[in-house]
Amino acid sequence: MPPDEFRQHAVQAVEWITEFLEQSEATRVFPSIRPGDIAAAIPGAPPDGPEPMEALLEDFRSIIVPGMNHWNHPSFFGYFSVSASGPGIIGELLASALNVNAMVWRSAPAAAELEDVATDWLRQLLGLPDAFEGVINDTASSSTMYALAAAREVTWPEAHSSGLFGLPRGRVYASEHAHSSVEKGVLALGLGQEGYRTIASDDGFAMKPDELEAAIEDDLNDGLRPCAIVATLGTTSTASVDPIRSIAAIAERHGIWLHVDAAYGGPVAMLPEERRWFDGWERADSIVVNPHKWLFTPIDCSVLFCRRPAILRQAFSIVPEYLRSSEQAESRSLMDYGISLGRRFRALKLWFVLRYFGRQGLVDRIREHLRIASELSDAIAADDGWEVCAPVHMGLVTFRRITGASAEEEDRANHAILEAVNSSGLAFMTHTVLDGRVVLRLAIGNIRTTEQHVMQTWSFLRNFANEMH
Ligand code: PLP
Repeated sequence: MPPDEFRQHAVQAVEWITEFLEQSEATRVFPSIRPGDIAAAIPGAPPDGPEPMEALLEDFRSIIVPGMNHWNHPSFFGYFSVSASGPGIIGELLASALNVNAMVWRSAPAAAELEDVATDWLRQLLGLPDAFEGVINDTASSSTMYALAAAREVTWPEAHSSGLFGLPRGRVYASEHAHSSVEKGVLALGLGQEGYRTIASDDGFAMKPDELEAAIEDDLNDGLRPCAIVATLGTTSTASVDPIRSIAAIAERHGIWLHVDAAYGGPVAMLPEERRWFDGWERADSIVVNPHKWLFTPIDCSVLFCRRPAILRQAFSIVPEYLRSSEQAESRSLMDYGISLGRRFRALKLWFVLRYFGRQGLVDRIREHLRIASELSDAIAADDGWEVCAPVHMGLVTFRRITGASAEEEDRANHAILEAVNSSGLAFMTHTVLDGRVVLRLAIGNIRTTEQHVMQTWSFLRNFANEMH
């Protein structure tokens, strides 16, 4: 693409982005389409010859954009609501222009060093001790699997050379509300489904430490090797917080690797008034925090902090001759911290976000999300026809319509309400199941979300539910 043509279309694209973000509310959140509609609107075979950029951008505007579930919409409240901020988008754009691959220092010196700096800044913002070394991965699923690989290295040192064959079996422990990525990691590392033991949670959906202790004792008596405990600060269904202090004490007593999944909840540690939830997390061996969830950084960006990075490197470091260089002793080789050799320059967007907002800007925005979540929770609790289903510690409110009908009918009513709001295009939400009952989730984490967006959605839900009768 000649420079003039590039400039023309790149400027058009940036203008489109600016308008899109400015008018993000003008689009539906969830599209009015069915599976297959988008693919059917696009030719089934690639073009033989070149196509003009105008045609590509036009199809982007007319097919792709209207066929999207818009995570950047201020009324996107599904899953864990995430958002790409302006500085994050610009960082992503520039990183793709550089297109470097920071596998070793020599392959991309500034990218490698900026990853050290940006993750260390984040560590400081989160109030973690400087023993924690950060590395950026694509997702929390990868970060957690890498942490478990380090734990496996400690539990079965002999497995590094001979594999797990013939060795005593082991276990990874996590609450019944832990994210599925923990079990996936266990499976990927060859520990098997039986290598994963879930621990019961209390009324607030937080792990019960006494049950954890009992499970470990039980397994030790059976000759199993406890491998790792995963505690979650901000679980996926309800944003519940496992009692990290008690769990850390158990992990230390038994010498078990403690991994903390703070993929969603981590940024809340920046707020002094919420710090109590994190008391003890500094005793973990590894912690994952996803700036692409609640830190306004475009997907993907997951930071794995490790207090024993040498073990993480031991699990993954293989340096072939063609990647050896003279600076290896004085610099980090990021390829040594996980499976991927090649890695995107994700540190740039994170650095831009941290600098553009600063500590105060980030704290103000997260604090406002917590305030809105608490307002919504109060409004729901004040309405006889609804109930809040879990304590609201973070930006997530879980609730459901109560009709007094049978459990099945009430569940159906809640599904119908969810379907109605999503098909309205006004807002997007998801659901979960708690104690066997269908529950609606409204997650507040988008940088453009205001109280008005949330309350407008609450009004819609109430009006729809009232009209159902
Ligand atoms: N941990 C928690 C608590 C989550 O809620 C999620 C996803 O929502 C994950 C881990 C997995 O995150 P990722 O999509 O980055 O793998």
